[in-house]
This record gives sequence, structure tokens and C-alpha cells, in this order.
Amino acid sequence: MDCIFCKIIDGEIPSYKVYEDAFVYAFLDISQGTKGHTLVIPKKHVDNLYGLDERTAKAVFSVVPKLANALKKAFNPIGLNVVNNTEKPLQSVNHFHIHLLPRYENDTLNISMSNNQSLYDESKYTAVSDAIKSALNKEK
Ligand code: 5GP
Ligand code: ZN
Repeated sequence: MDCIFCKIIDGEIPSYKVYEDAFVYAFLDISQGTKGHTLVIPKKHVDNLYGLDERTAKAVFSVVPKLANALKKAFNPIGLNVVNNTEKPLQSVNHFHIHLLPRYENDTLNISMSNNQSLYDESKYTAVSDAIKSALNKEK
């Protein structure tokens, strides 16, 4: 398969590996959005979050706190963001990955949340939560 992250796992493309176990591989993101920017990926090729089976999800997500603590210890950041981009145009590499981004006082990363609370009333919150619950029930 023509997947750069599968090639990185296989060693066909070099990477700065920081962690590896039977199911998971973690390495420096080439862009270093912030110092220590690390990607955590399953060894098994999965396109994105939607296709992640529970066992693989457990394996990948269970490594995240371990790496976060290592980044905290190594670089003493002021905080850390965990980011996943799912599907184009957000996702540029089609092999599921979690970004770990240690944050520093004057870094150039731009992650901000909007607060649309003023646009919501009880009926809107209810409609949104009902839509999610009904979709969850259809999944079963
Ligand atoms: P996405 O936009 O899909 O969430 O993130 C993909 C990430 O993969 C980007 O941050 C990009 O810098 C990183 N990346 C792309 N190609 C390579 C590569 O060959 N090696 C490494 N280490 N990172 C890569
Ligand atoms: Zn892959």
C-alpha cells in the first residue's frame, strides 16, 4: 500500500522513533509544529478514526498519557494539546494518527475553540443530543 506512515513503520522511510510496542509506533512529526510534536499511530493501517476498532483504539490511546508525561518531563511545556484530524480536507495523511503538541509561552501554534453558547437554548441542546443518541442506537 502506498502509505507513508506504513513505510515509516516498516523502516522504508526513516523517522525519529520515540516509542514502539506490538501495536503502536510513535515518532516526531517532521513539521515540529511545536518542539516535541509527536505522532502516535497504530501499526495496523487504518485510514482514520471512523475505522478504528476498539482493540486498536485501546492500544493507541493508552500510550498517549505515557508520551504526554515524557514530553512534560523532557521539555517542561506550559501545557499540551492532543489533536486528531479526521478525513480530508482536515487530514492530510490517510493513516490514523494522534498529534501530541507540547505548548510553550510564545509558540506559534494556533488552536482555539469557539463559544457558541449564546446561540443555544434548551430545545437546541436537546435536539443535538437526541441526534447523537439516535445515531448511536443505529450503530448497534
Ligand atoms: P494531518 O494533517 O493528517 O493531521 O497530519 C499529518 C502530519 O504528518 C503532518 O503534521 C506532517 O507534518 C506529518 N508528516 C507528513 N509526512 C511526514 C513524514 O514523512 N515524516 C514525518 N515524520 N511526518 C510527516
Ligand atoms: Zn498506513
